[in-house]
Amino acid sequence: MDVLILKRGLFAMCAHKQFLFHGFFDLPNFDELISNEDAPRASTWQVRWLLLAVLLATGAFAVAGFGNLDRSNVPIRQLVESVSNLSLDSQINSLSKDKIRLYRTDTSRATDTAESLLARLGMSDKAAADFMRSNPLVRESLMGKNARLLNAEVDDDNLLLKLTARWATESNDTFQRLVIERSEQGLSAYRETGELKPSVRLSGGLIQTSLFAATDEARIPDSIALQLADIFSGDIDFHRALRKGDHFSVSYESLEADGEVLKPGKVLSAEFVNKGKSHQAMWFQDSPQKPGGYYNLQGQSLRRTYLASPLAFSRVSSGFSMRLHPIFKTWRAHLGVDYAAAQGTPVRSVGSGVVQSAGNMGGYGNAVVVKHNNGHTTLYAHLSKMLVKPGQSVAQGQAVGRVGATGWATGPHLHFEFRVNGVHKDPAILARQSESVPVPVHARDEFNRQASQAARQLASASVAFADNTP
Ligand SMILES: [Zn+2]
Repeated sequence: MDVLILKRGLFAMCAHKQFLFHGFFDLPNFDELISNEDAPRASTWQVRWLLLAVLLATGAFAVAGFGNLDRSNVPIRQLVESVSNLSLDSQINSLSKDKIRLYRTDTSRATDTAESLLARLGMSDKAAADFMRSNPLVRESLMGKNARLLNAEVDDDNLLLKLTARWATESNDTFQRLVIERSEQGLSAYRETGELKPSVRLSGGLIQTSLFAATDEARIPDSIALQLADIFSGDIDFHRALRKGDHFSVSYESLEADGEVLKPGKVLSAEFVNKGKSHQAMWFQDSPQKPGGYYNLQGQSLRRTYLASPLAFSRVSSGFSMRLHPIFKTWRAHLGVDYAAAQGTPVRSVGSGVVQSAGNMGGYGNAVVVKHNNGHTTLYAHLSKMLVKPGQSVAQGQAVGRVGATGWATGPHLHFEFRVNGVHKDPAILARQSESVPVPVHARDEFNRQASQAARQLASASVAFADNTP
């Protein structure tokens, strides 16, 4: 057999390109992550282009000499080499000696039986199924309602060689690993603790209908979407103020178990452009002994005296975001703001204070009034249930009641008012009024260093949306 080998002096560059595009198109960990979520399996192209944009921006393409390469000067040689065939017998012998190992990955389901779980991983193994049913460690760790990330090694007779299940616990440092193995002595199982390793992911999205639709599209985990809404909750009312064309970019930790994404960690930096105005945030921790927090890139804490919305953002509540009250459309018409929401949705105090009253208030139905500093009060009306008593102290974000339709209400919704010394004010100005706290002076240099890094990252991410923004 003759083999034609074409040699060209471009190997280093080709290898580099191949590596880059392999990483770009395969994204194996990202797919794993999403298989863990309930989110629809939306296209990942947006994410891929974004990652490419980041690679470009961070100079991953800037290989030395790449730009100056003159192809015409590269010598081309043709070599013809003779290769003899291996004997067929030795090939067959060596094949039969090594059993083929097939590797498969899946996620366990609440409805799984030992058989169905093995079958999904391509196994037909009665002994393994019996073992899984009878072994207390396996029963307790694997056969439950909680999803496990599964890796299986299977031989060419569809028998189990090794099955590994991994899952997260409360801890952000460790995970649990259950291993079922077949050896010459038979099947055995053990469980151990592994170390989670954080990696950083950069992603982003464009708002068409809702925040969750955009994060689903970009395959961003729900916990990251909720953190985004929480981080910017002092500046953006995610129930009422989101607009088509708003866009965001976010970098966040992804916690990996043995190289596979097990769960998302915390948001590291983010930008949210709402109605054309950019809001930026960065996680900063002054020292390991002190709790960290989110700051804008100028060093002002994003923790506000008041939250922008009395309803916590969630997948359920976000479904009501674009609806308006059937009777009153602006706060001026009836001196408050209405939030359409499902009966029973928790209502939270937008700031810390003391409950001034909690009871039936005629047209307001069941209503809670909270007194804050500076003569500020907030009112929460039409509640189905009140969770606080007059005189009680409440913290910012604490639930004071549940959404209902008591009093003058055509359906379940929250009527929310903000008053300064008894005079009604537009609640939208509430967030803007609140003061924020700057980074301490001694941490300023370290903050600035991290902030310029975050700014570069967010800028490269937003490039990817420049073409998409209407
Ligand atoms: Zn109202």
